Amino acid sequence: TRRVVVVGAGMAGVQTAVALREQGFTGPVLLLGAEPHQPYDRPPLSKAYLLGAAEGSAFEVDFASLGVELRLGVEVTGLRPGDHEVDTEAGPVPYDVLVVATGAVPVTLPGSEGVPGVHLLRTLDDAERLRPVLAEQHDVVVVGAGWIGAEFATAAREAGCAVTVVEAAGRPLAGALPAEAAEPMAAWYEESGATLLTHARVDRVEPGEVVLADGRVLPAGAVVVGIGARPATGWLRGSGVALGPDGSVVADDHLRTSVPDVYAVGDCASFPSARYGARLLVHHWDNALQGPRTVAAAVVGAPSRPYDPVPYFWSEQFGRFVQYAGHHASADTAVWRGDPADPAWALVWLRDGAPVAVLAVGRPRDLAQGRRLIEAGTPLDPELVADPDVPLKSA
Ligand code: FAD
Repeated sequence: TRRVVVVGAGMAGVQTAVALREQGFTGPVLLLGAEPHQPYDRPPLSKAYLLGAAEGSAFEVDFASLGVELRLGVEVTGLRPGDHEVDTEAGPVPYDVLVVATGAVPVTLPGSEGVPGVHLLRTLDDAERLRPVLAEQHDVVVVGAGWIGAEFATAAREAGCAVTVVEAAGRPLAGALPAEAAEPMAAWYEESGATLLTHARVDRVEPGEVVLADGRVLPAGAVVVGIGARPATGWLRGSGVALGPDGSVVADDHLRTSVPDVYAVGDCASFPSARYGARLLVHHWDNALQGPRTVAAAVVGAPSRPYDPVPYFWSEQFGRFVQYAGHHASADTAVWRGDPADPAWALVWLRDGAPVAVLAVGRPRDLAQGRRLIEAGTPLDPELVADPDVPLKSA
C-alpha cells in the first residue's frame, strides 16, 4: 500500500485526509502541520473568536478513528522528489504520494515587522494576541480595507475601539470587487463609527502611532495589517515543483503538480479554469473544502471531472452577510437587484446573457440560486434579474 503524506494541517490538509478515507483509501495517511495547535478553522478567527464569543475553532474530526496520523509542530523545510522524501527539523519523512496543503502567509507591511503593537491576522496565535487589544479597547489602525480588514474593523467597533482603516486604493475591496460593487461598502465603515481613509498610504509605523505619507499621524494602540496573503511555498523552491509568479504551486486540472506523485490544494495552489479561461488562485474556505475531493479521487484512481469550481466566499462585516460566487472579470454587464442603500441587495454579472458572478448582501437565496445558474451557464433575462422580487432562478 502507498503512504500519503499531507503537508499542512489546515482546512485543505485535513479535508484531504477526510476525503481519502471517504473515497476508500485504506493505506497510511500522515498529516504534518507546523502549528502546535489541534487543526482548526480560520474564519471564526476574525469573527466570534476575536470577540471572545467562541472559545476555539478546532475541526470536529476524529483523526484517530479515521486512522490518520497527526504530527503537529513540525515544519517541513524541503522536498526531494528523487528520493520521495520531505525534510523536517526532526529528519526526513518518506512518501509515496505527497499532498502540498501549506496554505498562505499574510503579506507584511514593509518596515513594520517587529514594531511592538503591530499584528497580522492569520493564525490562532495572531487572534489570541488580538483579543486583549479588543477587550482593552485600544485605538486601532487597520491597514488595508480588504476582507480581513473589514472583518477586523467590524469586531473592533463592536468591542468599542476607535477604528481607523487606511486603504491605498480609492475604495474597499479594490483587489476583489469592481468599483460598482465596492462603492456602497465604503459607507458601512462610517455607519459603524469607523473612519475609512482611502488613497492613504502608510509611510511608517512607530510605537503608538502610524504616520501616513501625507504627514498625518494616527494614534494607534495597535495596528492590524491586512494587505493580502501569499502562498506558503518557499520551502518548495529548488525542488522541481513549478511555482507561478504569484508564488502558487502550478497545479493542473486534477491538482497534480509538475512533479509525479505530488499534488497541491487550497490557498497554496493555482489551477487552470476552463470555465473562466484563466488560471485561478483562490484564497477561500470553500476551495479548501472542494479541492481535496479531486485530489483524493486522483490518488485512489477514481474517475473525476476536472477541478473547475465556481469560487464561493462569504464575509460577515458591519452587521451584514456578504456572499460572492463566481469570477466577474469576464463579465460584460452588471445588473443591480435592489438599492445598495438598503440593507439587502445583490449584483449579478452577465456575459452574453449568462451569469458569471453574483454578489449578495443579505440575500442568501440569490447567492444559492445564482451559484447554480452560474454552474449551469443558464442565460437570464436582465430585466427580470433587475427585479428583486423575482427569484433569480425564474429570471
Ligand atoms: P491554511 O488554512 O493556511 O492552512 C495551511 C497550514 O499549513 C497552516 O496551518 C500552516 O501552519 C501549515 N504550514 C505552512 N507551511 C508549512 C510547512 N512548511 N510545514 C508544515 N506545515 C506548514 N474564507 C471564506 O470563504 N470565508 C471567510 O469568512 C473567511 N474568513 C477568514 C478569516 C481569517 C482570519 C483568515 C485567515 C482566512 C479566512 N478565510 C475565509 C479564508 C480561509 O480560511 C482559507 O481559504 C483556508 O484556511 C485555506 O485553507 P488551507 O488549508 O489551504 O490553508
